[in-house]
Amino acid sequence: MHASPPRALITGITGQDGSYLAEMLLAKGWEVHGVVRREALEDPAHRLVNIIGIRDKIRLHAANIDNPLSLYKIVSDVRPNQCYHLAASSFVSYAFDDENTILSHNFSATHYLLSSLKELAPECRLYFAGSSEMFGAPDEFPQNEKSRFNPRSLYGISKLASYHLVANYRRQHGLFACTGILYNHESPRRGFEYVTRKITSAAAKIHLGLSDRLELGNMSARRDWGYAPEYVRAMVAMLERDAPDDYVIATGLLHSVEDVLRMAFAAVGKDYKQFVEVNAQYVRPEADVPLVGDAARAQKILGWKPERSLSSIIEEMVMADIQLLKNSA
Ligand code: GDP
Repeated sequence: MHASPPRALITGITGQDGSYLAEMLLAKGWEVHGVVRREALEDPAHRLVNIIGIRDKIRLHAANIDNPLSLYKIVSDVRPNQCYHLAASSFVSYAFDDENTILSHNFSATHYLLSSLKELAPECRLYFAGSSEMFGAPDEFPQNEKSRFNPRSLYGISKLASYHLVANYRRQHGLFACTGILYNHESPRRGFEYVTRKITSAAAKIHLGLSDRLELGNMSARRDWGYAPEYVRAMVAMLERDAPDDYVIATGLLHSVEDVLRMAFAAVGKDYKQFVEVNAQYVRPEADVPLVGDAARAQKILGWKPERSLSSIIEEMVMADIQLLKNSA
């Protein structure tokens, strides 16, 4: 008789990271469960697009993550050995325009999950998706696990509050719970509202003659951009350690939005300057000190390091966007 495989529960399984993570865990022989919104199940062609290829290999559970009872019920049914809490309202707005939704999706949901695991599956290992937005406007760079947090968006605040809650469940209740403080990470599965995907999909459309312009915010804004499948590998590595801890996951390299433009349009043999306009609607305040991470600790303890260059990530995204447009034509 075979022992039953270990079970992983992923919130946010339909997203970029969740879908790569599900594929990785399936390949390792895990039984993979995912939490999805009921509306997503009703519109699989759009909302489950990232997991269509593995749909029949995973088990999906419908729930709103801001409903404590539905999360409790799922944890009770699945009794996971590992849980990856990736679901969040993840688009960073500085407008503070929907505070209730962001706080309930990003903070209360973390609390419901932690308390359910403590009651029902205290041996379960938890990964929580933290963010470089927790550093917000940092006072030093590069940032590491000891740098001062200074969030400037409600997203960052909600992630930081969850980070403290996770650390407290670890200390007070002995939960094996880790936060990954991940810097931006991209792939062909990135949402279209993020600047890299906005640029690569526009370059693809312009290449195919379907568009002739692109409106952006501040092109001098700089970020530390890595490759999502590699960042997902770091999450898994955190839960495979003997002891839980928090880690910065980053490339340590800064590029500007303009660099991304150059890379994306080079992939289709064009000069971005002919197509791009600034629209004040997309301009956001930038911190004086850039968000760029120092992942030395992850390298030392997890043996993790980033490999793909940004130009190869952007080129992959442009090619995937061209293919997507051709397929839908
Ligand atoms: P974020 O780091 O999670 O906010 O990721 P984004 O991809 O949304 O933004 C990355 C950077 O690109 C930020 O510094 C934005 O100010 C800058 N940016 C410039 N123009 C745009 C735009 O049109 N859309 C977005 N989303 N970001 C832009």
